[in-house]
Amino acid sequence: MSNSTESSPNPGDDAEAGTPGTGEDICPACQGSGKLADGRSCPSCGGTGRIVEGIGGG
Ligand SMILES: [Zn+2]
Repeated sequence: MSNSTESSPNPGDDAEAGTPGTGEDICPACQGSGKLADGRSCPSCGGTGRIVEGIGGG
C-alpha cells in the first residue's frame, strides 16, 4: 500500500498534486469558492476551491 502523498488528496482530485501531466484547476462543484451553496465546505475539493485534474488528452 503506497502512502507517498504528503498532502491528503481530495475526492475531486483526478491525481495527486505534483503528478506529471496534471495540474490544479478550479473546482467545478463549488466554482472555486471552496464552499457549497449552503455554506458548508465543498467535499469535492476539501474546501480549497481547487482540484487536481489531468491535462491533455481528449
Ligand atoms: Zn469545491
